[in-house]
Amino acid sequence: MKEQQLVEQLRRNGYKITPQRQEILKAFMESSSRLPQSAEDIHNRVVEKYPNVSLDTIYRNLNVLEGLEIISRLSLKDGKSRYELNPGGSHQHHLICLGCGAAEAIDYCPLKALHEIGIAEEKKFEIREHSFEIFGYCSLCRERSDEIGKLPGKCS
Ligand SMILES: [Zn+2]
Ligand SMILES: [Zn+2]
Repeated sequence: MKEQQLVEQLRRNGYKITPQRQEILKAFMESSSRLPQSAEDIHNRVVEKYPNVSLDTIYRNLNVLEGLEIISRLSLKDGKSRYELNPGGSHQHHLICLGCGAAEAIDYCPLKALHEIGIAEEKKFEIREHSFEIFGYCSLCRERSDEIGKLPGKCS
């Protein structure tokens, strides 16, 4: 997605386009890494241009962008959140590699299947948000390791 489209999406939802917000979007778009970025990564990038921006401000802005489904938040095993741009303009779920930390989006929302079988109705639970990540080893790490059977991690 282009920066202009993202800015448009913010504007449509009544958010101001602050220079800091624009810099945060840039940090996502210009990242060459396969790895999703932490709030600290984004902060490091933004303070190069705006030295007074606090990490707190970065978190607040990431929450706004997540709420608008411009970015997805990934909950990793280390307990830290990482963020990634949503290429299709809606939220995504990821396959996360336990070896190198790479995240690959899947075009499927498991919550849709839950709705189909009526969990929300059955449990009388109003779902407001959800997170769903699949952990494993990516093809590159699997090629690198001939000891796959000994790599840690199983379904719990
Ligand atoms: Zn990997
Ligand atoms: Zn979903």
